[in-house]
Amino acid sequence: MSSYKIATKCLQSGYQPKNGEPRVLPIYQSTTFKYDSSEEIAQLFDLTKAGHMYTRISNPTVEYVEQKIADLEGGVGAMCTSSGQAASLISVLNICKAGDNIVSLISVYGGTINLFAVTLKQMGIEARFITEEMTEEEINSQFDDRTRLVFGETLANPSLVVFDFERFSKIAHSHNVPLIIDNSFATPILCRPFEWGADIVTHSTSKYMDGHAQVVGGVIVDSGNFDWSVDDKYPELTTPDESYHGLIYTEAFKNAAYITKARTQLMRDLGSTPQPMAAFLLNMGLETLDLRIRKHSENALKIAQFLSQHDLIESVNYPGLKDNPYHERANKYLEKGLSSGVVSFVIKGGREKATVFMDSLELAKIVVHVADARTSVLHPASTTHRQLTDEQLDAAGISPGFIRFSVGIEDSDDIIADLKQALKKCGN
Ligand SMILES: *Cc1c(COP(=O)(O)O)cnc(C)c1O
Repeated sequence: MSSYKIATKCLQSGYQPKNGEPRVLPIYQSTTFKYDSSEEIAQLFDLTKAGHMYTRISNPTVEYVEQKIADLEGGVGAMCTSSGQAASLISVLNICKAGDNIVSLISVYGGTINLFAVTLKQMGIEARFITEEMTEEEINSQFDDRTRLVFGETLANPSLVVFDFERFSKIAHSHNVPLIIDNSFATPILCRPFEWGADIVTHSTSKYMDGHAQVVGGVIVDSGNFDWSVDDKYPELTTPDESYHGLIYTEAFKNAAYITKARTQLMRDLGSTPQPMAAFLLNMGLETLDLRIRKHSENALKIAQFLSQHDLIESVNYPGLKDNPYHERANKYLEKGLSSGVVSFVIKGGREKATVFMDSLELAKIVVHVADARTSVLHPASTTHRQLTDEQLDAAGISPGFIRFSVGIEDSDDIIADLKQALKKCGN
């Protein structure tokens, strides 16, 4: 880990050019790598020698970006994936098999809920969902000797609940299981979950890390802090892997056992690899991450304050607002109380007014994405949840007038002017 401040790491960590080499991270657009002898390749296959052999498993361009992200999060290693979904999946499959179960906060991203509740279930892994409101006793009763991990999200998409790190890391560790945190919305600039007891971090890099709505991607980062030998719960890490001549990950790779196995076994077998070009673009996004997330957060707070004073707005949800139920927690866990660029609000007049509002926006564009440098907006009731009736929406906790607004890094005056003119068209 370098000793630089985080904004410097965004630019300087990872690729270090040697004398006469390109200043900018090169794109190693090659599926494979050449060696002088078959003996050397055999050593790579045995994992006794480090090096690249085939881009499905590792690639220099991707590796430099992984080094940068590991440094930003303060981990011992990272592995990029082709999407955030692949990162969530592999983070779980790396330590779970059929018959095991996981405990997850219900507030996590909808795509993660689908993955856990539907697809993992088909693989024989049961997800047990918990809520913040549950008592210690109720939560503890979800764990048994087949529970393998606890999963949560720093800043939940889209509910913007700020994760209670101290409470849930204590619970996870009292059951001798790791805490896995999806840190996509906060990014390591606003929160470094390892400093608050998390053991593994995942990201959808498609969000703020890329930041320009260009590349879908994900990453898993290993803190190196979790003791996998505890209770003999993780035999896949502590007993011989027959697909590597009986190698034991915790013996061969010490505190990088988890992330090494994720790559050499699961990436090898599942192949959800990022392309070198995608890693190059992600690296460009990372270079300005510190600058962008601050501007996103500052703009979002102004927009949230503007909306909360507007007559046509029923409610605004943004942890940066003083009256938000998670404001105190945001101040504790998020750097300088910055809360990212996503603001959600409910417009008076339900689905009908929400549609007029959305269609009247000019600068903010309607897209199915958040965390872009450009301001964007989504109305779940008419898009992602459009098959539901108003009653069903209510049951899902989504009011018909609920709007998710992803504040960009334009001049906040222009974003507010756009909101003003669109709201004017919703007035009677
Ligand atoms: C978008 C998102 C994901 C899924 O990532 P993809 O890159 O779209 O596969 C996972 N977690 C969170 C919090 C997200 O916002």
